[in-house]
Amino acid sequence: MRFASLGSGSEGNCLVVEVGSTRILADCGFTLKETIARLERNGIEPSSVSAVLITHEHDDHVGGAGRFARKFGVPVWLTYGTLQAAQDQFSAVGVEVFDCHQRFSVGAIAIEPYTVPHDAREPAQFVFGDGNARVGLLTDAGSLTPHMRSTLSGLDALILECNHDLEMLGKSSYPRQLKQRISGSFGHLDNTAAARLLESIDCSRLQHLVAAHLSLSNNTPELAGAALAGALNCTQDWIGIATQADGFAWRQVA
Ligand SMILES: [Zn+2]
Ligand SMILES: [Zn+2]
Repeated sequence: MRFASLGSGSEGNCLVVEVGSTRILADCGFTLKETIARLERNGIEPSSVSAVLITHEHDDHVGGAGRFARKFGVPVWLTYGTLQAAQDQFSAVGVEVFDCHQRFSVGAIAIEPYTVPHDAREPAQFVFGDGNARVGLLTDAGSLTPHMRSTLSGLDALILECNHDLEMLGKSSYPRQLKQRISGSFGHLDNTAAARLLESIDCSRLQHLVAAHLSLSNNTPELAGAALAGALNCTQDWIGIATQADGFAWRQVA
């Protein structure tokens, strides 16, 4: 199993997971043209994508999904709540509704969806498996729940939201309401909260840890990397960073 990011942040998110000849996109927040260009940069033929999975209806996750799915005739998997909220984007698209408490699979990839607190209709995040290793994705969560902790324990790789540094957000010029939304229980994980998650789950198998969904105004790769390295007691260069411009290159899970 291997995975790569086409970009991560409030301007657009897209993760690619591959097992054998099955290739799926988790979220598709870039325009069609941009998605195709970014896939090709990573050596992926767009028509080889088997499915698009959506975490929730915010534009940085769903923005390009409908157009991509129509163009390449691939199904879109999403929760009933996400479908209700983003229905107009999925006309003439093959839609598959999943239940957040029910595992499903696409080709060779096993998918374990799980619920998270976020200000969307029915948000989900995912753990991807190949029968041997598990890769977890967690972005867009305002707080941590026991269910998230148990789902993310014992992973082989984790892409983890480090949205903001609380102090930088506090000092930023964002309006007060927006600051409250971002740092609230249904907003986004800050660096410290992400570090706290790592301290409370089993990380003994972790081969890859990538900080994702970093705010361009209220965080820096250095702050996010330092927070996660502190939690794992490892060197900071071991922590990957998913950037908005390029995401990150393929990472192989043994
Ligand atoms: Zn987002
Ligand atoms: Zn969101």
